[in-house]
Amino acid sequence: MAEKKHASDAMVKRGDLSKRVGIEQLRMRGVKVEELVEKLIDAAGAEFTTYYYYTILRMNLAGSEDYKEICEDARLEDRAHFELITPRIYELGGQLPADIRAFADRAGCPDAYLPGYSGVTKEGVDKVKGIQAAPKAAEILEVLLEAERCAIRTWSEVCDITFGKDPRTYDMASRILQEEIEHEAWFIELLSMERDGVARPSGHFRRGDPGDAPYSKNRGFYNP
Ligand code: ZN
Ligand code: FE
Repeated sequence: MAEKKHASDAMVKRGDLSKRVGIEQLRMRGVKVEELVEKLIDAAGAEFTTYYYYTILRMNLAGSEDYKEICEDARLEDRAHFELITPRIYELGGQLPADIRAFADRAGCPDAYLPGYSGVTKEGVDKVKGIQAAPKAAEILEVLLEAERCAIRTWSEVCDITFGKDPRTYDMASRILQEEIEHEAWFIELLSMERDGVARPSGHFRRGDPGDAPYSKNRGFYNP
């Protein structure tokens, strides 16, 4: 009987655990796997730091309960994005930095600081100089909006470099991208009315539960 077409290949020998067919097939299709992994680590870093910073931004939306709720959806969905993409980094032979400081530093998007925050001194002391007693909601919404825009650029790039070559990474990146596009639309709607008094509807009503993540979470993935 003729040998089955997919029973073996020249790249990965029978029983060899040092290579993955799931990676070699990507290389054969032109994916630069090492570069992709580095981009995914940067992107995961941005999701993780955004989750952290949105916690602070949400707290400071005190008094604007509607904004707080929507910020919370975006915050928890960014955590879901981190959870979704991190296993893929390991499948592709990468790993997260052992030190969270290194991870935060290489995040692919700027820190989503509270408006007025001016950074940390060399001694690691928070300089809270300039932070108003109550940052204006419009200023916080602008920080949220620009963070979402950076995320859209990031995941669009990952979609571009995986399209038609790496269906698994593409599927994850496109799920994340769909939610980031929604997040941008939410914050445009809120900032537009809050700052400019102009209606720019996003089409959004509300998620089911906080952090629903309808695209990036589903029962098929382990993603708490
Ligand atoms: Zn995200
Ligand atoms: Fe987001």
